[in-house]
Amino acid sequence: MALIVQKIGGSSLADVARIRHAAERVVAEKERGNDVVVVVSAMGGQTDQLVAMAQELHDRPPGREMDQLLASGEQVTISLMAMALMQRQQHARSFSGGQVAVHTDGVSTRARITDIDRENLRAVLEAGGIPVVAGFQGIGPEGEVTTLGRGGSDTTAVALAAALEADECHIYTDVDGVYTTDPRIVPEARRLAKITFEEMIELASLGSKVLQIRAVEFAGKYSVPVRVRSTFDDGEGTLITVEEEDMEKALVSGIAHNEDEAKVTIIGVPDRPGIAHAVVGAVSRENVNVDMIIQNQGEHGKTDFTFTVPRSDYPLVMDTLDPVCKQIEAEALTGSDRIAKISMVGVGMRSHAGVADRMFEALSREGVNIQMIATSEIKVSVVVDQKYTELAVRALHEAFELDKPVDERDHIH
Ligand code: ADP
Ligand code: ASP
Ligand code: MG
Repeated sequence: MALIVQKIGGSSLADVARIRHAAERVVAEKERGNDVVVVVSAMGGQTDQLVAMAQELHDRPPGREMDQLLASGEQVTISLMAMALMQRQQHARSFSGGQVAVHTDGVSTRARITDIDRENLRAVLEAGGIPVVAGFQGIGPEGEVTTLGRGGSDTTAVALAAALEADECHIYTDVDGVYTTDPRIVPEARRLAKITFEEMIELASLGSKVLQIRAVEFAGKYSVPVRVRSTFDDGEGTLITVEEEDMEKALVSGIAHNEDEAKVTIIGVPDRPGIAHAVVGAVSRENVNVDMIIQNQGEHGKTDFTFTVPRSDYPLVMDTLDPVCKQIEAEALTGSDRIAKISMVGVGMRSHAGVADRMFEALSREGVNIQMIATSEIKVSVVVDQKYTELAVRALHEAFELDKPVDERDHIH
């Protein structure tokens, strides 16, 4: 008998009919003789609606109130799912994050899980029941409700799988696996049978919303096998796993895009030690993650300093940097929140040069101007104007022939 954690995404819980259908999936797993722990997201679109209402009422909604508000979405689905299971003669019991308890570091709207109590869930499992746990929420050191960042139910599921030493964690969603790129943008995208933790971490951190990055990090760290599959049809989905010898060695495994970042530029900064620290330090103290950073070689003792931040933090970052720029005697502070980051990921890049160049060529053919570039061992990212997102993703998918099986793709010259 295996223990399986099944995470049901919001798109699979959007209405009563879908909740009923998802409950059938859970019962089917149980009838195969396995123990099951269910983790649910809020009903599809619910969290977005709550965020939109908050933004209508407040320019910069306070973190604590956002946590309280957003945690309500999963409160609805745990009980509805438990009821749907009980209707099918299952002994189901719903748990909020606090009732489990899922402990977090207490940072509002982007808390990290620090520990999970196992007793309450184990008691239900031992009695032959199905615990239904609210994803995306936990309880901070002071007993406060905290949420884990958008898409955080994935992380709850993998963290629970690790804590309970589950055999597998299944992520049920509206696509039947991880694709070479978002199939909503490129219908010719191909499903990957397997992908390495390393590549999935890159894709998730670069914007592929199919899995939250922390979920993949947890899975890699605690070796939890994760399978992404469809709630709506049977299939093997995509297994996220360690790199194996016999895996298809694609040069590029996938393309991610991210429209949730903004670009900040400080023009005419005096080129002297301590400037990067003054700027990035001020931003970090606001708990904002700084991503791509570019500083040009200074001319006449001045330099420009550009970096990206999450788009939702853009107003806060601009407000924070205004006094800092005056203090360091920079000439101007500018930026844009209409950018997109497009990235190509693949472990095959380690042994092949030329991916970046082929990427730049494909973008130039479409007249897409590149604003920033960043590379690492297994990825290349570019920042472009947001209006080119779809064009850029499609052009790259075609240029690297990702619609074809790996062995039919043209080798790089
Ligand atoms: P859920 O509500 O189940 O959590 P999400 O919307 O968070 O679902 O994630 C599934 C969506 O992720 C898909 O509908 C798809 O549009 C998007 N997506 C982005 N990149 C990929 C990719 N590489 N492979 C599969 N899906 C992707
Ligand atoms: N409901 C939350 C969100 O929409 C968490 C999740 O779905 O994973 O981001
Ligand atoms: Mg999701």
